[in-house]
Amino acid sequence: KLFNEIQDLRGNIRVFCRVRPFLPGQNGKQTIVESIGDNGQLVVTNPAKPGKEGQKTFKFNKVFGPAATQGEVFADIQPFIQSVVDGYNVCIFAYGQTGSGKTYTMTGPNDATEEEWGVNFRALNNLFKISQNRRSTFQYEVGVQVVEIYNDQVRDLLSNRTGPAKKYPFFHRIHSLFKCFSFRYYCCDIVIFVFLNPHTMGVTSISQPNGLAVPDASMHPVLSTTDVIDLINLGFKNRTVSATALNERSSRSHSIVTVHVRGKDLKAGNYIYGNLHLVDLAGSERVDRSEVTGDRLKEAQHINKSLSSLGDVIFALAQKSPHVPYRNSKLTQVLQSSLGGQAKTLMFVQLNPDVTSYSESLSTLKFAERVS
Ligand code: ADP
Ligand code: MG
Repeated sequence: KLFNEIQDLRGNIRVFCRVRPFLPGQNGKQTIVESIGDNGQLVVTNPAKPGKEGQKTFKFNKVFGPAATQGEVFADIQPFIQSVVDGYNVCIFAYGQTGSGKTYTMTGPNDATEEEWGVNFRALNNLFKISQNRRSTFQYEVGVQVVEIYNDQVRDLLSNRTGPAKKYPFFHRIHSLFKCFSFRYYCCDIVIFVFLNPHTMGVTSISQPNGLAVPDASMHPVLSTTDVIDLINLGFKNRTVSATALNERSSRSHSIVTVHVRGKDLKAGNYIYGNLHLVDLAGSERVDRSEVTGDRLKEAQHINKSLSSLGDVIFALAQKSPHVPYRNSKLTQVLQSSLGGQAKTLMFVQLNPDVTSYSESLSTLKFAERVS
């Protein structure tokens, strides 16, 4: 019922704002946040113009202040996850400058406790819970892909997976065999049989790519939240490995966790498909062109272009424009299946409250204003 409400608004696009707290040791810092209203209103103050004169008001579907916990944030996301299980495509992404809390929202801090889990882990955990509750009527299969987009190229972060596969040596052998014959997922029913065990509680392995998968990226069956945590951590580790060479690459690439869900209606025998893109975007900070050259400039240009393409797509969708410019960047091409049409989109606008970030925060808020 929440989604009927959502559909009435803005062609299925919702925008949440999250203001991160000051970090330990940042006591006494001055904030740009003047007030946060229950109705999704955020007022910020320009530090150069204190008082009413420097105030600007922005409106979101919801604003989470510095004290909001990961659990409180997820409570407002849960209906989107429910939709995935019901056969919708959903895209949740975090936008903001580096250090504004994108990764915290999407994944959580490093070595997060369950309390600190971000959207990724909570979403999958919830997905497994829902499928478990429905196991007498539906049989669900879940598969995950983890990729990054760097300089407009997609890179599979799990292509050399060595982690969770070890748990299923037999599956791994069959999987490799299928790969050789390039019909990887055709015989999945046989493999499902191999894995069926009481612990999976109605969730079986392997997702059938339904034409919406990220092309050329490996698909990994998951049976539990632990599998997902292992996979995502492994993928992100692969992302950071290359980061050392390229100096903090993680803030200059987009990371995308794609979750594929296939549910078999046990009575009718037909399938429903849903997929979920969880996106931690590259930092939106503008790079001063006069100060960078070479690879750094190329990176900056790719980031600018992909983020503005994303903005253009969401803007076109919000306007219900007949032409949606998906083809302008790899990012929007990869996310196309979950942007527009029946798909539901949720954007997190992340803010660093510090006065020194005012101009970046303002440009983040303007990006959001255009699409909401
Ligand atoms: P980004 O991914 O946008 O560069 P991070 O998610 O890495 O930013 O956040 C920057 C720092 O702030 C990290 O140390 C992170 O743990 C912390 N942080 C961000 N959001 C929160 C929050 N809501 N509560 C507590 N700490 C946070
Ligand atoms: Mg980050």
